Amino acid sequence: MIRSGIRPEIKKKRIDHKKTQFAKATFQEHDYQHRLSLYDFPPTAEISIEEFETWAIDRLRILAELESCSFRNRSPQETAVHMEPLLKRYMPLSNNSATGGAHIDERLKEERKKDHYSHWILRLAFCRTEDLRRRFSRIETTLFRMRFQQDDGKEKRAFIDSLNLHWETVSNEEKTELSEHLLAATPSLKRVDDENFFKVDWTSIPDLIEHRSVFVRKGKAYVPTQQQTSMIITQFTQNLDKALELSARALPRIDEDDRLSPILDHLSKNFATPDAGFHDTDSSLSGAPINAANVDNLSQHFPLCMKNLHTTLRKNDHLKHFGRLQYTLFLKGIGLSLDDCLIFWRQAFKKIDDDKFNKEYRYNVRHVYGDVGGDANRRGRGYSPYSCQKILTEHPPGTNEAHGCPYRHFNIDNLTSMLQATGVHDREVLRGVKEDVEKKRYHIACNRVFEWAHKVEIKRVKDDNIWGPAELDTIVHPNTYFKRSYLLKNLNSVPKQDVKMEDS
Ligand code: SF4
Repeated sequence: MIRSGIRPEIKKKRIDHKKTQFAKATFQEHDYQHRLSLYDFPPTAEISIEEFETWAIDRLRILAELESCSFRNRSPQETAVHMEPLLKRYMPLSNNSATGGAHIDERLKEERKKDHYSHWILRLAFCRTEDLRRRFSRIETTLFRMRFQQDDGKEKRAFIDSLNLHWETVSNEEKTELSEHLLAATPSLKRVDDENFFKVDWTSIPDLIEHRSVFVRKGKAYVPTQQQTSMIITQFTQNLDKALELSARALPRIDEDDRLSPILDHLSKNFATPDAGFHDTDSSLSGAPINAANVDNLSQHFPLCMKNLHTTLRKNDHLKHFGRLQYTLFLKGIGLSLDDCLIFWRQAFKKIDDDKFNKEYRYNVRHVYGDVGGDANRRGRGYSPYSCQKILTEHPPGTNEAHGCPYRHFNIDNLTSMLQATGVHDREVLRGVKEDVEKKRYHIACNRVFEWAHKVEIKRVKDDNIWGPAELDTIVHPNTYFKRSYLLKNLNSVPKQDVKMEDS
């Protein structure tokens, strides 16, 4: 068990960073009365190292998916629909009304505790660089906004009241004096008496200023209660931005903890491309003809990384070591048996004889499948197929090597040519891919191509309620790409009960 002694943010107006880094922690017991939180106080109870890691990974899944919704220009409504099942699964956060509003039961407390702790853990993981801080703050704000807007009116009110935000209420006299301006800025309002207004610094509500939806005088904006959402959200972002800076200053002390720092390090790497584990169910495609003779045909469902390996293999009758490894693991992941895999490689290496194949290549394929070598644990299972994160971040390909991810490792001209050679001619898609790649969103580019290539089928599974949003979440594993593509393109031949994607 560990005490999650996370350094708190210090509630001071003027920050002396030298002092605050070593200031005494401000703790508060949490009773989780409200569903939402500005996460002002750090967690204080003990949690296990497993909880520390799993809760953070669950939140990370949510943030990554939210970020990819924004990369793909999903509207707030589409994002909310898409996220609903994922939130229920990984980060449920129920209203007080779930218990009839009478009390906060254990389930509610546990949900809120997980939300609270996971936010703070990721704060530590993502406070390390300016870029990570900015991204974390932006996505956490999106999550907060979504939850806030969905919150039940009564609970929203109680949450706002609990915040003590020190907003100055505009007196009745001032309202009457400024009524003409206030009504002009709030067209939905008939009489100023029907609404309360708050006075805040105009800089604290950029959204409302940008849309000219408030009256401003002497540096103060007059905000009607109905516009409070914008104020609360700005407050949330401001608090978080400040807190992230403070957390960054506390990092050297946390890095000394050799239990936490590897986890935090891994989490922050995961933010670029979320990692995905591989389960045996990922390769189950009941009745699909997965055999050596059919790999050419199946390659139409491969993501670009594996298409590149397959085409290079067919062109050169050979692949270098890392290419063979990446491709063998993928083929194993799609459900190709060891015997078929050996037949596949033997036939593919046309320029060598049986003797050379048996001496130099056979053992490696068997090893990958866990048929020989390795420790006792790996025996029988072998290695797991590589996720996008691994392919994107480890062993970049050198000259004449074909492994890696074309979205990351090809220059844009070669990538465009390869996409066109595989049938992607849509200018809008190619433009989007170029933009994604420039912004280093490689897996988003890959998902963009997938969604374009399967748009008809995706529409069908959505319209016919065959798949929900959770089954169409962002692809972060080449084997998920294959399986999803195969199922979508075979909707008419695969029995309806088998057209489902297990979580990868
Ligand atoms: Fe392959 Fe992943 Fe790159 Fe797509 S993003 S090409 S699945 S490594």
